[in-house]
Amino acid sequence: MQLADKTALITGAAMGIGRACALRFAEEGAQVVVADVDAEAGRSVVDEIRGDGGEAQFVEVDVRRRADNERMIDDCRDAYGRLDILFCNAGITLPKTLPETADDEIDEVIDVNVKGLMYAARYAIPIMLEQEDGGSILFTASKTGLVAQEDSPVYCASKGAAVLLAKALALDYAQDDIRVNALCPGVIDTPMLRRFADAMPDPEAAWREYEQEQPIGRLGTPEECAEAALWLVSDHASFITGVALPVDGGFTAM
Ligand code: NAD
Repeated sequence: MQLADKTALITGAAMGIGRACALRFAEEGAQVVVADVDAEAGRSVVDEIRGDGGEAQFVEVDVRRRADNERMIDDCRDAYGRLDILFCNAGITLPKTLPETADDEIDEVIDVNVKGLMYAARYAIPIMLEQEDGGSILFTASKTGLVAQEDSPVYCASKGAAVLLAKALALDYAQDDIRVNALCPGVIDTPMLRRFADAMPDPEAAWREYEQEQPIGRLGTPEECAEAALWLVSDHASFITGVALPVDGGFTAM
């Protein structure tokens, strides 16, 4: 088992990519802290993991709040005595041009997609520094943190920030056994993407277009993201830090 005896905290783990990662990490032996603002869906992921014989706990958290991030890390340490893997995955989109975007919408995207990562990592790093074998931090950025997408400038800026935050922290802690990487999903079939398509004038046409836009000819799955995330946080990637890994069916190769 690749994550035996490791403790992994995953934000945004109630659905989509985070849920698939929680299930996969637990399957590989990790004790998983499922952190999410959606308590009902988060608890059902915990039930699923326990039903499969794994170990998991739920923590209700709004990653926009500094104090919630502090409590979530404390709860993890109280429950398991350590924190080996911090996976900041919670994120939100904002498909609007800049002039259409209100102040509070800018704040919300930056708070969730950027400040949430900073707060969580700020509380996790001292714990990992105290541990003999360090730890691994992963941020879910996006292909839009590597190449821009039309009509989503605030989202793109937030994901670009996630990529550079990972690289900057990777340098700061390279000699302390703390690896920091970014996962850059392409277009993945999750509740987020379904909501995005449903908001289009013709959702079915929008969905077909997403599929056709992918060099590989289809959308990615949360499970495919989970395989890449598992490798990045596991000891198999022990010489990998400061990397932004596209999981995008070739999108950023174009
Ligand atoms: P999703 O909407 O399906 O799931 C996101 C989860 O994050 C939900 O469980 C939600 O409750 C939680 N969440 C949202 N705001 C939160 C907050 N303030 N505090 C705590 N939890 C919160 O989304 P997804 O598609 O699985 O996306 C996961 C990550 O992947 C996000 O960072 C997203 O930007 C990124 N991403 C997704 C795609 C895609 O095509 N689906 C592509 C690139 C990047």
